Amino acid sequence: MVMKRNEIANSKVREVVNRLRISGYPAPMEIKATKLNSAQEDIIGEFSVIAKAKEEVALEKKCREARPGNELWNFRMRMRALFQKAVQNDMIHLGIIQRHAKTYGAVPDHGPPHNWKYFVLPDGTSWLCWECGSEIQAITQSQSVHFAEFALAGGGEVRHKTIPYCPKCETKPSDRGIIRETVGESILNDMY
Ligand SMILES: [Zn+2]
Repeated sequence: MVMKRNEIANSKVREVVNRLRISGYPAPMEIKATKLNSAQEDIIGEFSVIAKAKEEVALEKKCREARPGNELWNFRMRMRALFQKAVQNDMIHLGIIQRHAKTYGAVPDHGPPHNWKYFVLPDGTSWLCWECGSEIQAITQSQSVHFAEFALAGGGEVRHKTIPYCPKCETKPSDRGIIRETVGESILNDMY
């Protein structure tokens, strides 16, 4: 599936995302610790109606998985739109919005390997490019590990890593790579 840029997010949401990219998320606040304006209160009201109806749980049972156009998919797309409405109404300081906006693909995922570039679709496994809406591809890269402590030789160790990329905005990553790390980093990467 492909989405148009204006279907992905309007300019106000993009503006907030660009700001977050630069300065990171603000410290999360609780709803009861903040003063909300009436538009923001209405949005919280919409969320609580949905939460009370437990619609998503019922649809998860009924549909089993979200597929383009089915009820669960459409429900999560509605949630995505509601989270974007919250983002565009300056509610990203609320912990509850921060936690779920990226889960519903309202904002791009900031963590690696997505790094603010891609957002998730309702199936939880497909990703689209935040800029152009193309479906994100992934390649498995074989990385040979070279240890910083040993100037010339590689460690001989090969690691496989899935690297996502946008087929339109980015060049396809090579299927082979070299990573340099210290022995200490190597131990940590192996453990986590
Ligand atoms: Zn793209």
